[in-house]
Amino acid sequence: MGEKITLVGGGLAGSLLSIYLAKRGYDVHLYERRPDMRDGKYEGGRSINLALSLRGITALQRVGLDKEVLDISIPMAGRMMHDTAGNTAYQPYGKEGQHIYSVSRSQLNIRLLQLADQYPNITLYFNHKCVEANLKTNELVFHGPAGERVVDTSDVVLATDGAFSAVREAMLHQPRFSYSQTYENYGYKELEIVPDANGKFQLDENCLHIWPRKSFMMIALPNPGGNFTCTLFMPFDGNPGIDQLQTSEEITAFFKEHFADALPMMPNLVEDYQNNPTGMLVTVRCYPWAKNNVALLGDAAHAVVPFYGQGMNCSFEDCLVLDDLIGMGRPNTDWSEILQQYQQKRKPNADAIANLALQNFVEMRDLVGSPEFLHRKKVEHALSTHYPDRFTSQYERTTFSTRDYAEAWEFGGKNDKVLDAIIQNGWESKLEDTQFINQLLLEMLG
Ligand SMILES: Cc1cc2nc3c(=O)[nH]c(=O)nc-3n(C[C@H](O)[C@H](O)[C@H](O)COP(=O)(O)OP(=O)(O)OC[C@H]3O[C@@H](n4cnc5c(N)ncnc54)[C@H](O)[C@@H]3O)c2cc1C
Repeated sequence: MGEKITLVGGGLAGSLLSIYLAKRGYDVHLYERRPDMRDGKYEGGRSINLALSLRGITALQRVGLDKEVLDISIPMAGRMMHDTAGNTAYQPYGKEGQHIYSVSRSQLNIRLLQLADQYPNITLYFNHKCVEANLKTNELVFHGPAGERVVDTSDVVLATDGAFSAVREAMLHQPRFSYSQTYENYGYKELEIVPDANGKFQLDENCLHIWPRKSFMMIALPNPGGNFTCTLFMPFDGNPGIDQLQTSEEITAFFKEHFADALPMMPNLVEDYQNNPTGMLVTVRCYPWAKNNVALLGDAAHAVVPFYGQGMNCSFEDCLVLDDLIGMGRPNTDWSEILQQYQQKRKPNADAIANLALQNFVEMRDLVGSPEFLHRKKVEHALSTHYPDRFTSQYERTTFSTRDYAEAWEFGGKNDKVLDAIIQNGWESKLEDTQFINQLLLEMLG
């Protein structure tokens, strides 16, 4: 068997990465803090369903799971905005046929673990919490199922232990390790829109639903069971703050005022609101991600706020890029060189998606409700549909492409200038004048 690689964290990125590495012949040891979620005792707590898009699908394709995962997902072609009066407005995400997919976090993670378990060169350890990491010797210490001390030493350590990574904690003590952790003044609650009496969806299931209310918002993603998982994002110190709604009367009155169309479809609202924990929104930036033969991937390297639906997609893409670099270096594997290249390639993209996600929060909770914004989106959609070779929206570059996130961030600014020019000069009437628009796009986008 090849070199021994230890993975810390068997969430989404860790379980996928273990399969990539096993396919390359390494001796893979994957340690996960939680119990085995295949036993059906999955601890929820963090988003029940997730939006999967092209980057994530491409990463799953490499292990042959893309089609199977899409089969258990629900395609969403656009977003449906709900105003306070119950009117709706629809905006497609991209061109005809372009979708993002709502998938269950636990089903996806379980499927990845099932596949990992089929490889004889992967050993899975559950109920093992990493508590210490020695970045010089690659020695890791875990608390095992009975609280016993378990020590593991390997050739390479890859940390996929999420936003509060224990391995990253050890890196904090290294000279010149830069680190920031920024919380939004927002919390989130997971709630539910139930199916109707016939088990059918009560809202269009091929949309991501948004109730934008300027300083707060609710979103809903469909599940195959006919229900929607809703997430309410609200400031901690708003008026009221997310944790200040406590009694049944307070919660119901608040929903009646702000989400009246959704309220009748949420019979478990009060119970869910009172019992579900309030989640927090954090952006983590750090660098370097690699020290000797130890590296961070996924949320451990770059936790982002969830408003672009890209955290998992980006984490899967980290694994894909690392696997590509391993492939290119074969048959010699110079790990310190590979990990250097990996971090140099991914860090600008992680920064870009962190910025994009923060920017999209303002768009989702505030702008999507305004007529000016809807008009701007219509113009943008017309450009990307009629001039696909010259104009690609930032959303398409981020979600329906595997080109660098950094490129999407850069082009977003340029696209904004094009849209400003068209709208401020009243050139909407010229959108079908191909000569005029092609010339404008050439001049402004190159
Ligand atoms: C509300 C919300 C909605 C989201 N929606 C989307 C979305 O729609 N689309 C999208 O792409 N992304 C979304 N994300 C982001 C996505 O959840 C993360 O980016 C993704 O889970 C990162 O994968 P990971 O494997 O790096 O981390 P995780 O999935 O968090 O996995 C980390 C694993 O490490 C384990 N672990 C932690 N500490 C230790 C330790 N000390 N020892 C051993 N094991 C440990 C954990 O138990 C866990 O299993 C959302 C996030 C949130 C919070």
